[in-house]
Amino acid sequence: MTDTIFGKIIRREIPADIVYEDDLALAFKDVNPQAPTHILVIPKKPIPRLSESSQVDSSLMGHLLMTVKKVAEQANLHNGYRVVINNGVDAGQSVDHLHLHILGDRPMKWPPG
Ligand code: AMP
Repeated sequence: MTDTIFGKIIRREIPADIVYEDDLALAFKDVNPQAPTHILVIPKKPIPRLSESSQVDSSLMGHLLMTVKKVAEQANLHNGYRVVINNGVDAGQSVDHLHLHILGDRPMKWPPG
């Protein structure tokens, strides 16, 4: 499996503004924020994208969603927030390591672009 910039962040080979970490997940601020609060939650396991996850990842996937909830609470996103997973080329995925975007502190439009 090819390494990505997020693998380097997990191993502390490049810096990131890390806001949460546990055995399975890491959360850090997006370097190019699309909202006043923009945090990425990633698994430490290098799953390239949601569509390449498998049944053995089921509990990890649940853990990532609960991590989103925890990180959003920690970031005081009491008015709500959007959670986004870009999966593959058509979705504009640019880093091949599964990540959940948390976007908050501004109103969101629907449908997304
Ligand atoms: P996506 O387009 O869904 O693949 O999202 C990748 C996200 O990673 C983008 O929002 C980038 O701004 C963000 N990103 C890329 N490199 C870094 C980095 N070194 N630190 C934090 N965020 C990054």
